[in-house]
Amino acid sequence: MANVEFERVTKRFDGGGRAAVSDLSLDVADGELLVVLGPSGCGKTTALRMLAGLEEPDAGDIRIGGESVVGWEPKDRDIALVFQQYALYPHLSVRDNILYPLKVQRIGKTDRMERVRRVADLLGLGALLDRRPAQLSGGEQQRVALGRAIVRQPQAFLMDEPLSNLDAKLRTQTRTEIKGLQRQLGVTTFFVTHDQAEAMTLADRIAVMSAGELQQIGTPDQVYDHPANRFVAEFIGSPPMNLLPAERVGDAAIVAGGWRIPVPVGAASGASVTVGLRPEAIRLAETPAPDAQPAEVYLIEPLGSEVIVNVKLGDHLIRVRTKPEVRPEPGQTVYLAAEPGGVRLFDAATGEALLG
Ligand code: ADP
Ligand code: MG
Repeated sequence: MANVEFERVTKRFDGGGRAAVSDLSLDVADGELLVVLGPSGCGKTTALRMLAGLEEPDAGDIRIGGESVVGWEPKDRDIALVFQQYALYPHLSVRDNILYPLKVQRIGKTDRMERVRRVADLLGLGALLDRRPAQLSGGEQQRVALGRAIVRQPQAFLMDEPLSNLDAKLRTQTRTEIKGLQRQLGVTTFFVTHDQAEAMTLADRIAVMSAGELQQIGTPDQVYDHPANRFVAEFIGSPPMNLLPAERVGDAAIVAGGWRIPVPVGAASGASVTVGLRPEAIRLAETPAPDAQPAEVYLIEPLGSEVIVNVKLGDHLIRVRTKPEVRPEPGQTVYLAAEPGGVRLFDAATGEALLG
């Protein structure tokens, strides 16, 4: 097991155009579970493939356990990969699929069988060892693919959207299993996903990427509570953070519809800013209160344990998270107030967070 570092890593595929990965620096601790999160095409797979040795960076360095691995063959990097396509050998049994990497590594037969038994126990595959992949469900196939990665006891696991072929229920279940397994094994893990909920639930830290560039790296709480910029603010959280154009006036920001939101010191008075409010950072009352902003209910989305109330304020639709018993009618006037600790400010031009 080892720590993994990316130092100013850049990769271009077509020479001239935008880099697939641009100037990426990351330092992942031994045993850490890092989730690389971002929309399709932002460079997640490319970053992972460079760590695995399937692509070489154009610039920068990649180190495993302090040693540069740039130019090393994939097989010399001692890394195990799990992809969205499980790529199990269809003609081999589950046992032989899991065994396969050990044969390649020329590990003795007794040791091999013992390791397979342990992995099968860990993943609940004991009863399936004689089946072929075609005789397994999607979830079971994915567990076999995980088993094949774990059995090698590598320095690091790289997982590229390994759950995206599973249905919603199995996905949540398997992600819990992966987290438990990773904790138990203590192997440094890179887990790539475009699903922010998956990232939030799994990660020790999340690296958020957009267009080849790292936007922010931090714990799930840090990226959720203090997004570094508007991209992160909108990408993490469901529904996303409300982002409202505003003018700074004194110690407040005035957003569309004239809503006056007290803000901490930040941008100069008069500057254009974007106010960020999580749906749970807005209090919604059905009766007027001093300083509360009237707004019209557009529609409500009941979700069982909570309700998302969509309200219209000027041209903007604002989403507010409320208790399940709060059920205002569409067209009704409600009164909004921002939680003082939940107000975030971004530079209107650059989108960067302004410290408050
Ligand atoms: P992600 O995994 O985040 O969806 P990728 O790393 O696959 O993103 O791709 C990042 C960018 O690099 C995309 O613009 C993609 O089209 C481009 N790219 C990826 N692989 C290749 C390749 N082999 N040849 C050319 N362009 C590629
Ligand atoms: Mg990808």
